[in-house]
Amino acid sequence: MATLASDAASDPATARPMTDNQSHRPFLDLPPLASASGTVRLPGSKSISNRVLLLAGLAAGTTAVHDLLDSDDTRVMLDALRALGCTLQQDGGVLHVTGLGGQLKVHEANLFLGNAGTAMRPLTAALAVLAATQGGQFRLAGVPRMHERPIGDLVDALRPLGCGIDDLGQPGFPPLRLHGQAGGVLALGQPIRVRGDVSSQFLTALLLALPLVAQSQDVVIAVEGELISKPYIEITLNLLVRFGIEVRRDGWSRFTIPAGSRYRSPGSMHVEGDASSASYFIALGAIAADGGAPVRIEGVGLDSIQGDIRFVEAAQAMGAQVRGGSGWLSVHRGLWPLKAITLDCNHIPDAAMTLAAMALYADGTTRLTNIASWRVKETDRIAAMAAELRRVGAGVDEGPDFIAITPPAPEAWRAASIRTYDDHRMAMCLSLAAFNPARVPVRILEPHCVAKTFPDYFDALFGVAQARADDVPVITVDGPTASGKGTLAAELAQALGYHLLDSGALYRATGLAVLDDGIDPADEAAVAQVAGLLDLRFDGGHCWLRGRDVTDALRTEAAGMMASRVSALPAVRQALHGLQLAFRRAPGLVADGRDMGTVVFPDAPLKVYLTASATQRAERRHKQLISKGISSNIDALRADLEARDLRDSSRTVAPLKPAEDAQQLDNSALTVDQSVAQVLDWWAERRPFGG
Ligand code: C5P
Repeated sequence: MATLASDAASDPATARPMTDNQSHRPFLDLPPLASASGTVRLPGSKSISNRVLLLAGLAAGTTAVHDLLDSDDTRVMLDALRALGCTLQQDGGVLHVTGLGGQLKVHEANLFLGNAGTAMRPLTAALAVLAATQGGQFRLAGVPRMHERPIGDLVDALRPLGCGIDDLGQPGFPPLRLHGQAGGVLALGQPIRVRGDVSSQFLTALLLALPLVAQSQDVVIAVEGELISKPYIEITLNLLVRFGIEVRRDGWSRFTIPAGSRYRSPGSMHVEGDASSASYFIALGAIAADGGAPVRIEGVGLDSIQGDIRFVEAAQAMGAQVRGGSGWLSVHRGLWPLKAITLDCNHIPDAAMTLAAMALYADGTTRLTNIASWRVKETDRIAAMAAELRRVGAGVDEGPDFIAITPPAPEAWRAASIRTYDDHRMAMCLSLAAFNPARVPVRILEPHCVAKTFPDYFDALFGVAQARADDVPVITVDGPTASGKGTLAAELAQALGYHLLDSGALYRATGLAVLDDGIDPADEAAVAQVAGLLDLRFDGGHCWLRGRDVTDALRTEAAGMMASRVSALPAVRQALHGLQLAFRRAPGLVADGRDMGTVVFPDAPLKVYLTASATQRAERRHKQLISKGISSNIDALRADLEARDLRDSSRTVAPLKPAEDAQQLDNSALTVDQSVAQVLDWWAERRPFGG
């Protein structure tokens, strides 16, 4: 967590909100967003990452995996590979995986696979055939939702071969126990039948597992029912080729793994950016890159092997202007409002959810059909999407395998608290509702669910989406020296995922620069010039002034006293004014100082004036200094504080005083947590979210 300001003060354009993916805040409020432009670099594809990891883990040799996705779903796969005895070595951005060469090293393991279908299904198939032939016992389980996601069709395909598979819960669903004896022989003479109309992951799982046992004979897989999500099978076949397996395919119903198949590492593999993740930014460009620079997406391009790249065509049909090449896309708004479409989405089941969000901005009813698989994903996505789109005001009709969305009338949009059902795509799709014409904010509940595939999604969003300044909420925390403003402000910013502006640091840095340059602090013009040209950078909790790390120097009493002097100069305050305003960026700002509520952000919806008795404040400062090994005299400290307060409150410009509409908070007898809770209560009262 940043201790000063989380942002680059000298270049607020690079400011980052405190939306770090580690923190599990209960909600993130998106202000109304107005436009989009700029470049986003996508994280690696989940589908490719987990397939490559499993293939590298099963193959002989070491595979250097570049640009692997780092997310919940890949983490469970990595944990599983480690538990199975694969060697994993991270070297900068490259992961080196040394595989098993088709031979089990570990014959018993308990694997926890979270909610990752891309780990559960293929590992079930691979470990079932390995246990059945080499002996072993494996338990595969996940989160409760994983135990509601079907796997019966895969189990039904594997059992007739001679794989020992026990249902440990409800039949047809994980958790499962896979077991077998060394020397077991599988019945591979007949085509292996698998249903293709519930999840293509069952076929993928067989395609990835059966090369392990196709030594002496061809192995044939026969698909029953219409195969859904064919592009995902293409990814599987494509990657199998890279690992030495040439599957022969008869249409989409018969796949033959040739006798003598053996996994061999290709040496190195590059993971493309995630085409499903690209859909949010393609949509963003179509909705909000109007006129100026486009939204440019890097990491995935028109030559992608991922089926969801065909989302581009669907977005174009709705009006997006998309250009692209190898590894990049560039998107502008074309038609506006977007054009309502009716589309069979079987080929882009995941990205099609993004069309449902784009439908909020269309000129009529958008109908997405052939999406029954949505019902067995991370959540029942048809039901979830219908409920949440209705919450923002849309008209929604749903059926077993379709959804139809009619956008809200401009005045019918509502500020909604969006439930995300532990489904990353619900969070990312509904974030697009922030572009609503009614300029109402959108609250995303449990926003950390995006970690499944795109841990930095909200940072990436705010990197390319802009809000009007007056739509960006600000909480100001003003008060006298050592009242605890900095701590309170940082905690609030962390809790809300907002940017943080420690305006005192700007005055302190000006003070340090004045000391460095030997400028007379009373020379207003010279000091203002220094303030106007401050070369100040905040980064990872450190602060650099003119390239020097001044993190500690800024907090010294000398810097504080000098700040107090130079901050009384009107020209200095003026010089720092624009810099402070530039911190007001989506999703929001917590600003602490002396005049945040009175002068810099007078329209802030919540202004807090924090006080504590002078004795309390002197004691706190004393303790703080002692903890840093600096000795001090409490009476002298108190005298210093009072002198500073007097100067701050008696100066003619921006004197320290509570704003008329400030909430006063005396924290003399409060813990930090109590103060934070109080301010968050005040904040909740001011937010428009009913529930
Ligand atoms: O808050 P901090 O102690 O870091 O601020 C250092 C000094 O900068 C304060 O004593 C005050 O004189 C000045 N200041 C100001 N206006 C602000 C923030 C700080 O005048 N918004």
